[in-house]
Amino acid sequence: MDCSEDGCSSEAAFRLHVPWGDDRVVCAGHARVESQKEGVVAKPLDAADERLPDGAA
Ligand SMILES: [Zn+2]
Repeated sequence: MDCSEDGCSSEAAFRLHVPWGDDRVVCAGHARVESQKEGVVAKPLDAADERLPDGAA
């Protein structure tokens, strides 16, 4: 599964829970950026062997 961000073809590794919108799946890099926003929670996909990015809420 690819990252849902436009123009990004990295492998999705996290599911973002966005209070004001739909959940989406993103790569580790985008999870790091999006999780800086208040209320957004990034959780590793079940199949992914990845840790939360540093600084993730
Ligand atoms: Zn991405």
